[in-house]
Amino acid sequence: MNIETVIRLLGTARQLRRHEHWTRDQLETYQNEALTKLRASAYAHSPFYREFHRGMYHAPLNELPVLTKRTMMDNFDELVTDRSIHLADIREHRNTAPDSRYLGHYWVNATSGSTGSPGIFLYDGREWAIVLASFARSYEWAGLRLNLAHRRKIAVISSTTPWHMSYVVGTTLQSPWVSTLRLAATEPLERIVDQLNEWQPEVLVAYASMARVLAVEQMERRLEVSPKVVFTSSEVLTDEARRLIEAVWGKRLFNQYAATETAGIAAECEHHVALHLFEDLILVENVDEHNRPVPPGVYGDKVLITTLFNYTQPLIRYELGDSIRLAEGICACGRPFALVDGIQGRVEDTLTFLAADGQTKAIHPNVFHQVMDTVPLREWQIIQRDDGLHVLASGLEPGEPTSALHDAISSALTEQLNAAPAIRIHPVDAIPRTANGKAPLIRSELHAQAAD
Ligand SMILES: [Zn+2]
Repeated sequence: MNIETVIRLLGTARQLRRHEHWTRDQLETYQNEALTKLRASAYAHSPFYREFHRGMYHAPLNELPVLTKRTMMDNFDELVTDRSIHLADIREHRNTAPDSRYLGHYWVNATSGSTGSPGIFLYDGREWAIVLASFARSYEWAGLRLNLAHRRKIAVISSTTPWHMSYVVGTTLQSPWVSTLRLAATEPLERIVDQLNEWQPEVLVAYASMARVLAVEQMERRLEVSPKVVFTSSEVLTDEARRLIEAVWGKRLFNQYAATETAGIAAECEHHVALHLFEDLILVENVDEHNRPVPPGVYGDKVLITTLFNYTQPLIRYELGDSIRLAEGICACGRPFALVDGIQGRVEDTLTFLAADGQTKAIHPNVFHQVMDTVPLREWQIIQRDDGLHVLASGLEPGEPTSALHDAISSALTEQLNAAPAIRIHPVDAIPRTANGKAPLIRSELHAQAAD
């Protein structure tokens, strides 16, 4: 990492720390000013926003149109605020020089696009320092302060795609603060375990599904590491997975909520009550399918985010397909940021079924999490196909009956639908991972869905 980036990051991290002492009023005043500035810049420099928000330049945020990934990508060159940026050139750059900065100063990140086309997100040097600082903030809340005198040994088990944000962030932070062992979550488990035993990380960062699998490995004594902190992100962390991870490593688990589109969105503080939204960096609207706000205590259908710090590629009411639940109340730490106590994944994870009354009904992932949490499995995945539900279950004893699992799922669905689809349990050795190394708990294969 070059010295300019180091200085920028330290300065930005210091600034962000000050925000944590604000009152709610101070935070809201700051948000209003930051949003006004962002919108003024977008209207001055983005032909897309001039058109998209025409006649609404002074309208409240919640009256502005929602920006989808599709609209953003279709209008990329007009949406960004630097006229020398061209999507076609970025794609070309991506193929020829993925490790260098585009036009010499833009950091490029892309969503996986495992299905559908990837979203591309640019940050200039100042904005990139904020991206890094947003990740550093989650680390600090877990008790790991940036410390030039001590290089931390971090093991990251995730995607090793050069355009994936975790990879880009990881390589910029590689020195001087951290020395990173980067493993692909798609590698065979045995190899991952061997390398972790060898490396003995102080910090373990993994997708929730992988952290859970590693906790089982530790419990069964194949893995023997003692991380000070375990971070999970990118996937749903069920209560059962949390209990298991904490049972083997102690109360050192910190869940994060981040997205390539925005960098860090929320993180858990030392009280482990819930995740605090990074509201000084991002405005978060938790809404239903018709973009109406949902109150705390209720899961929304999507999240609309406005990134207050990205002037290169302004995102104003950009739609993320995540279903989250805000929590009421405040945390003992005194930080002014609102709390999220439930993240149940992307809307694509919500399966819909035909109920007994002939209506289609969405079954929230939570319904499945609650049932599966009570079953001692190594890993599981529920796939909806035209012929019913297929449940992949690993960790069943050979010959162990699957009827109890079948009946538990069936009765949970009957309670919701007054009917249950066909359910088949498939004992497997391991859950297949996606190209990125994720193992989603719930998937639909009913029809091709465009999603990341
Ligand atoms: Zn707190």
